[in-house]
Amino acid sequence: MNLWQDYKRPASVAEAIQALVSAPSSSMPIAGGTDLMLDLKQGRHAPVHTLIDLTFVDEMKRLELRGSELFIGAAVAVNRVATDPLVGTHAQALVEAANLIAGPQVRNTATIGGNVAHALPAADGTIALTALDAQAEVASPAGTRRMPFTALFAGPGKSAIDKSKEIIVGFYLPITRHHQASCFKRIMRPQGVALPILNCSVWLEREKDIVTDIHIAVGPGGSTPFRATEAEAFLRGKPLTEENLSGALETLLAQAKFRTSARRASADYRRHIVGGLFKDVLETAWGRAA
Ligand SMILES: Cc1cc2nc3c(=O)[nH]c(=O)nc-3n(C[C@H](O)[C@H](O)[C@H](O)COP(=O)(O)OP(=O)(O)OC[C@H]3O[C@@H](n4cnc5c(N)ncnc54)[C@H](O)[C@@H]3O)c2cc1C
Repeated sequence: MNLWQDYKRPASVAEAIQALVSAPSSSMPIAGGTDLMLDLKQGRHAPVHTLIDLTFVDEMKRLELRGSELFIGAAVAVNRVATDPLVGTHAQALVEAANLIAGPQVRNTATIGGNVAHALPAADGTIALTALDAQAEVASPAGTRRMPFTALFAGPGKSAIDKSKEIIVGFYLPITRHHQASCFKRIMRPQGVALPILNCSVWLEREKDIVTDIHIAVGPGGSTPFRATEAEAFLRGKPLTEENLSGALETLLAQAKFRTSARRASADYRRHIVGGLFKDVLETAWGRAA
């Protein structure tokens, strides 16, 4: 059985949407194919009539400053995200996450948009973008709109966008100012090149010893990429003392809904190890923002 019947290579966002909606039967986007091809071949995804390749859409391969924001096109390869100096300056957590995704061959092919659209709650690029408070630009037949990053997800492996008529065009990140910094780390089996046991990313702003603003993301801390909003509220306006760190961790543990995954770790194990990872990531970002 053919896994797809037709394969289109649009050159613009408008052409891509047109190709999706005018397909005679089921259609969906493909970028690097590193997730989708495995899902199709291994039967986790039903065959699709028309695949729409997004990697020839120029707008989606741009990576540039736009006013006070950094724009990263959804079809930008993970390897470019990992090495681009603009990302290094304004989104260090994303560089760290991108460098840990798979091995070099996959990173050259996989895209940042595919990492997000696959909608796994612990995908590395996704967790970094969650902490960086990204916004997504989404195109549909009605035009383009901006969405808060966390609104892109409906459940584990379930995107909130309708892939039969919508695509993620790219991501906007606020540029980094003085005394702001970010960090991403993960806990992983030594030889692993797939999703981590646990990952964590923090973006923060400090003024002397006070946390003036903070975003915390942990994967998989829920069925969608998890923002620890209550721990963020707990730390905002406070000095980063051991006591406040412990208070923030308690708050995070009360809000997170850790999951058991068959091949990686139990929910209990994740609850047990998250404290060390969270402290390490937070203190690294704190030091960078000095
Ligand atoms: C060996 C191996 C190791 C891996 N290791 C890791 C790892 O360590 N960490 C990690 O996070 N991931 C890992 N991955 C997963 C994978 O590489 C990433 O999720 C990758 O970024 C997916 O991007 P892609 O361009 O290949 O997506 P594709 O496979 O092309 O697409 C994935 C899904 O997203 C949809 N899609 C793609 N682009 C868009 C768009 N712009 N708008 C709307 N929908 C879109 C597709 O329709 C499909 O449903 C690994 C994969 C492999 C094969």
